[in-house]
Amino acid sequence: MRTLSQDIKKQEGKEVELFGWVNSRRDHGKLIFIDLRDRTGITQIVFSPINKELHSQAEKLHSEWVIRVRGMVKKRPPRMENPKITSGRYEVSANFLEVLAEAKNPPFALETNGLEINEELRMKYRYLDLRRPRLQKNLRTRAKVIKFIRDFLSEKEFIEVETPILSKSTPEGARDYLVPCRLEPGKFYALPQSPQQYKQLLMVAGLEHYFQIARCFRDEDTRGDRQPEFTQLDLEMSFASQEEILNLVEELYAAIIKKLFPEKKISKKPFPRLTYKEAREKYGSDKPDLRQNKNDPDELAFAFIVDFPMFEWKEQEKRWDAVHHPFTLPQVKDKKDLLARFKKNPSAILAYQYDFVLNGYEIGGGSIRIYKPELLQAVFEIMGNKPKEIKEKFGHLLEAFKYGVPPHGGIAGGLDRFIAILQNEPNIREVIAFPKTGDGRDLLMEAPAQVNPSQLKELHLKISDHKIK
Ligand code: ASP
Repeated sequence: MRTLSQDIKKQEGKEVELFGWVNSRRDHGKLIFIDLRDRTGITQIVFSPINKELHSQAEKLHSEWVIRVRGMVKKRPPRMENPKITSGRYEVSANFLEVLAEAKNPPFALETNGLEINEELRMKYRYLDLRRPRLQKNLRTRAKVIKFIRDFLSEKEFIEVETPILSKSTPEGARDYLVPCRLEPGKFYALPQSPQQYKQLLMVAGLEHYFQIARCFRDEDTRGDRQPEFTQLDLEMSFASQEEILNLVEELYAAIIKKLFPEKKISKKPFPRLTYKEAREKYGSDKPDLRQNKNDPDELAFAFIVDFPMFEWKEQEKRWDAVHHPFTLPQVKDKKDLLARFKKNPSAILAYQYDFVLNGYEIGGGSIRIYKPELLQAVFEIMGNKPKEIKEKFGHLLEAFKYGVPPHGGIAGGLDRFIAILQNEPNIREVIAFPKTGDGRDLLMEAPAQVNPSQLKELHLKISDHKIK
């Protein structure tokens, strides 16, 4: 039976069997020391020259070889203890060794934090890069945060629902990734920029409390620390006020910090609520960094920014657009009031829209939604959509809202950024198992890639650009 490094301390005087990687080999006179690494840590294995055959086998071992070892657990002599590793007071005196897999020399060091290595090389060999303890810890912490969220929200009677990935365009303000449809030539699915419309439809369906750890896809030009696909904690609630939604988010995030990051200090509770106007006037930003000491990695300054403007002018497209998205409820009495106020001063209309901010980063955003079909229709029209387009793009939602729709609202939080901040990482790629480059390439799989001409034919697609090889 396999014993893990973390359990060596309970096995003194017993024979154990270990599986793992050779972290390092040191030859001290006649003794050979191997640091064996498994997912729980490191164990020192000693090969003595008494067993000649075994000893010469051990002489051949190299870093990153995968081995199986049997031996006796012994206390190390007092001066030889290593307090840095969990099994540091013990070592295993080997009596059997099997090499399960040899390994080429890794293209870069694995024992450093890796940030000094060319990132493209790290991405190409991500499966090796992920062996470093820093990245292992990031992925484990990420999994713990997600599990905590699931438990917390399930406890509060939220139901986790998976929504489709092959879907139709939803207006979150970015370009869609399109997927051609084989069975209906010339038609395309769009990958969801967020589950926005589905989660609203789930409210019409009477679920009342929904959440999802959702993958979102946005085809945006390289801009800072973004990924074409990223993960959101997406949630939606029926019959809840803005304040109730913000309170729930605050309770959840404070609980995550208390349970999983006890070394961190939240600057202010309840989390400050600033209006968009206040934030801009006082801090010149709608995502102000409210930390008292910006050099302190353990300080967390959460805040909510509320009362965003509903509309903004898009100079390029010469039209008014929703600041958040068109499903956001403007702070108006009804359709008539909206139109009258729009005529007077469009940019003065506020919305029940909020952003969630941490240490100067936007880590979430959401809104109370329009649930009156005629008001939603008016917002679509203000944004420049013709009635026919509205029917084509949003007919399903307008129709659904005719069958008894509860007032509802929600929020979505970016998990990659949140975890990167908590792990004191310089960018979100460090907390994503297989991130892409800034221009959207997966260097490990070499995606995007050309496809077989027969696949194109099946999809009724022709590549017309002669510049494409
Ligand atoms: N779907 C929105 C977003 O991704 C969030 C929301 O309004 O709930 O920004």
